[in-house]
Amino acid sequence: MNKFPNTIKEIQKGLIEKKFSAVEMTRYYLDKIKKENSKFNIFLSLTDDLALAQAKEVDKKINRKEKLGPLEGIPIAFKDNILVEDYRATSGSKILEKYKAPYDATVTEKLKSAGAIILGKTNLDEFAMGSSTESSAFGVTKNPLDISRVPGGSSGGSAAAVAAEQCIVAFGSDTGGSVRQPGSFCGVTAFRPTYGSVSRYGLMAMASSLDQIGPLAKNAEDAQVAFDVIKGKDRLDSTTIKPKAKNNEVQLRKLKDLKIGIPEEYFEKGIDKDVKKAVEEAIAKFKKKGATIKKVSLPNTKYALAVYYIIVPAEVSSNLARYDGVKFGFREEKAKNLLEMYLQTRAKGLGDEVRRRIILGTYVLSAGYRDAYYGQAQKVRALIKQEFEKVFAEVDFLLTPTTPTTAFKIGEKTDPLAMYLSDIYVVPASLAGLPAVSVPCGKVNNLPVGLQIIGPQFKDDLVLEVAKLYEQLN
Ligand code: GLN
Repeated sequence: MNKFPNTIKEIQKGLIEKKFSAVEMTRYYLDKIKKENSKFNIFLSLTDDLALAQAKEVDKKINRKEKLGPLEGIPIAFKDNILVEDYRATSGSKILEKYKAPYDATVTEKLKSAGAIILGKTNLDEFAMGSSTESSAFGVTKNPLDISRVPGGSSGGSAAAVAAEQCIVAFGSDTGGSVRQPGSFCGVTAFRPTYGSVSRYGLMAMASSLDQIGPLAKNAEDAQVAFDVIKGKDRLDSTTIKPKAKNNEVQLRKLKDLKIGIPEEYFEKGIDKDVKKAVEEAIAKFKKKGATIKKVSLPNTKYALAVYYIIVPAEVSSNLARYDGVKFGFREEKAKNLLEMYLQTRAKGLGDEVRRRIILGTYVLSAGYRDAYYGQAQKVRALIKQEFEKVFAEVDFLLTPTTPTTAFKIGEKTDPLAMYLSDIYVVPASLAGLPAVSVPCGKVNNLPVGLQIIGPQFKDDLVLEVAKLYEQLN
């Protein structure tokens, strides 16, 4: 159990009432992380000096009786692919083991000026490729609920940090489920915003047409507060959009006026029967409160993983070309000539999964194959998006499982395809750029199950309001 309160509201109350100081709390968290890191391996580095300097500012503000902003004094953590100026940013890769960020990501800048206390950087699958943190060059993170199991991935460190109460809000990146899937495995609330809601500037690129930063927290309200701080148009990321005025539709409308879609393709073969049961029980709670439940169909879901594993490697092969031993990071100095240096640097600096995707991506983009693979995948991606739009003409949001199983054992999935399949329910919303949140909905054999709420594009507030509402149904 934690010595300090566990939600944003209660922490700020405690700070204002001077039950504890921000510095005292920050020291406690930094110590706790250090003590527990040999057990869980959640943090790759700490940003101690920054955290303590920020905490001091918060305490001064409280002494001056100034009003606190929404995240002021709240201990947070970043996945190690998000840049914090002057601190290490490894992206879980050997090639960036010693790399220090030369500037702040836009989200970092926003969170710094909001007065959040940045504790450190969390572990991840190498360059965010994976579903278990096992592909990190710095060892697997253990699921704090059962250390023989993975925390999910790729933002496994961020999900585990919240679950182990090593911070209040953690930030991850979700390309094809990397916020939601670990959220589900660790029993925390995990939100992927609409593509373009949050700036990607200063997030190390994996697949730029899908990458999106999102918060993980103990509850939906805290995730919403965090999202409100990081969202917004940014001139440094041309894909960002100006947020719409808040639409608290769920509050305005009664639950009984809401129409919920249940896509049949998310409950078919491959899903663990107890996970299915837990999700169905969650759906029944909405029904009991008078919501209309409608079965819907998204038939192109069956192509989502195949499409994802063409588009993502294609973008990966191009985005990761920059790690060549010349510009930054590790360089193999012993190579005889430039070409050898490129080859040996990448062979030594990058792990198996990353190299697999670079090779695959280079192949699907190569002359003669580009149209058949990459072009075709883009067309099917458009169909997947249209199919969601059609369904959202009939229902307000969708409820699905987040993952087909609960957290699996470390070392259990040796075949890459088996690993990819754990993302089958999170990838479609990513391809369509939709907002989606995973909220805990019960347990199977003491391991958490996640309920996924997927909403129409730009209805981020709706999705988070539904998540809050679901928490109240429990
Ligand atoms: N697990 C998925 C993959 O390996 C998702 C990764 C992510 O969202 N960053 O690609």
